[in-house]
Amino acid sequence: MNKKKSVYPGSFDPITKGHINLIERALNLYDEVIIGVLDNPNKKTWFTPAERVEMIEKIFSDKKYKGKLEVKSFKGLLIDFMEDNDVNITIRGLRAVSDYEYELQMSLTNNAISSKKLETIFLAATRDNLYLSSSIVKEIALNNGDISLFVDEKIKNVVQKRGIQKREE
Ligand code: ADP
Repeated sequence: MNKKKSVYPGSFDPITKGHINLIERALNLYDEVIIGVLDNPNKKTWFTPAERVEMIEKIFSDKKYKGKLEVKSFKGLLIDFMEDNDVNITIRGLRAVSDYEYELQMSLTNNAISSKKLETIFLAATRDNLYLSSSIVKEIALNNGDISLFVDEKIKNVVQKRGIQKREE
């Protein structure tokens, strides 16, 4: 049987509990989920692509994820990353109305420029993650607030420390 694969792309700067929730749900839907960490030099990020990949791998280090979850960084177009990985399904999350417009634009554009039939599957954010974003987490960490509600315990200290560094820059 062909494995049903999907890719979940994003910046993950840093990965939040909202992203984790989506990954776990995607794993229930697909045999394999590839997390694509976008390496975009034009986007100012707190963490390098390698650091972001490492944080995600740390959270999903349990052996139950072996062979089911892969974390890779990618440069360039999502459609090329999908082609390289032989995937035609993208997972994206929808929070508020503002996500909808951007996500729809991305999805339609990707389909327009690809010669393949691509599908985007939107998973609705859960109520407790509805207002959670990487930017909010960074804002709190920058001001040395407690981020434990929003990020996994395994990466909390790294993010908290980066916040203090950023404040001093
Ligand atoms: P991007 O820069 O591609 O938007 P993000 O890392 O911010 O990257 O988000 C990746 C995807 O995860 C997007 O589809 C976004 O809507 C979704 N997402 C982010 N935060 C949440 C959340 N709290 N709940 C559900 N989906 C989320």
